[in-house]
Amino acid sequence: MNGTSRAANADSWSWRVGARCRGEDLALFFHPDGERGQARRQRQQLAKAVCAQCPVMAQCRAHSLAFQEAFGTWGGLTEDERSQLLPVRAVNLRTHHAHP
Ligand code: SF4
Repeated sequence: MNGTSRAANADSWSWRVGARCRGEDLALFFHPDGERGQARRQRQQLAKAVCAQCPVMAQCRAHSLAFQEAFGTWGGLTEDERSQLLPVRAVNLRTHHAHP
């Protein structure tokens, strides 16, 4: 990675400094194996409530859509909601990043 791309990469993640979820239990944002139905909906609503208070929600949402984050709640959107916004459901495990 050259200096220019390194700087661009760092800048593309600089919004995470203001993330409301920093220090939160990330289990709130990612579903455990086997979670279904009401349990999943309740957990997602709690995650969305955190996102609704987040000063960088717009940047987080844009990032999750641009990188087609496959899992978790990002920018107030669940993975299912993001998949409905994207033209083709794309699972992008190669570029999957850690949550803010
Ligand atoms: S909008 Fe993104 S950065 Fe903010 S709390 Fe939600 S997941 Fe975290």
